[in-house]
Amino acid sequence: MAQKVPQRFLAYDLGGTKVAVGIVTASGKVLEEVREPVVIEKGKAAVVRQLAELGQGLLKRHRGIRRVGMASAGPLDPATGMLLDPTNFTSIQGSWGKTPIARLLGAKLRLPVTLENDAAAAILAEHWVGAARGYDNAMILTLGTGLGTGILCNGELLRAGQGLHPEAGHLILRAGDESAPCGCGNLGCAEAFLSGRNFARRVRPRFADPTLTAKDIAELARGGDPRALAAFDEYSSIMATAIHNYAVIYAPEMVVLTGSFAAASDLFLKSTRERLKALLARRRVGVDLLPKLVISKLDNQAGLIGGAFVARQAALRGEPKDSRDVKAGNSRRVR
Ligand SMILES: [Zn+2]
Repeated sequence: MAQKVPQRFLAYDLGGTKVAVGIVTASGKVLEEVREPVVIEKGKAAVVRQLAELGQGLLKRHRGIRRVGMASAGPLDPATGMLLDPTNFTSIQGSWGKTPIARLLGAKLRLPVTLENDAAAAILAEHWVGAARGYDNAMILTLGTGLGTGILCNGELLRAGQGLHPEAGHLILRAGDESAPCGCGNLGCAEAFLSGRNFARRVRPRFADPTLTAKDIAELARGGDPRALAAFDEYSSIMATAIHNYAVIYAPEMVVLTGSFAAASDLFLKSTRERLKALLARRRVGVDLLPKLVISKLDNQAGLIGGAFVARQAALRGEPKDSRDVKAGNSRRVR
């Protein structure tokens, strides 16, 4: 039986340092959004309270919303709406551990919350209304606090085993590299080189100023500073290696870069393309494995739009099935 699809959704995009909350239409347009720093260190109870208050503020101004979608940094389990000790979520009491965020937030808002990994939400949004429209094999790399990866394979969101989200940002590129400690506890993960935060942390010691951010280093490179230019050259080489590895596993026709550090793509994208072309030179006969590399045009709204998309999918499937599920704020598997 066809389900009635709601016209608007409340959507969240929760990251390691900030949260965006917005109202998104059923055609993927953001009507209103609020962004705030989120103090993960205060612990989960305080963060859930902050998320609920922000959402309630929007719900008061936009009546009749019955569905909530949330994109969040992972790892997480979309089927149970549970955060699984997110890599970049650490409070003074220690790491967050297992957190049933969809249920906790759903109980406060009294609405069902569908949880999705933020990078998965972003690739769904790109496929829905963004750069990957018409590309059924596409991948997104979100370059911010961490390196999120979302993969669309033959038109379906790709899951790893056990219903989990593939954490391809933690592919180890240089085992044992002490210059690249990762939030996951290992050394040399792709994320430890390629996220904006880790890029700055890793190359900062080469400069006299220990307070430089990724943005500052990008400005230095644009001004011609040779150390900054060398840092971005190295960055493009590691990025090309990472995308090569993703290309041989997932064969995306397009790779979309997004997140705050994608704003520095003028300093690495051209060189990444050239290096990637060289790395994949022998894999272009017959099926061409060289993906298009593009920058997202969704202006950091991909997480919000993707959050609305998964809430819309849940509505189309008619989930949750009964009032006990609504009370639990439960979400089910997104195919
Ligand atoms: Zn890692």
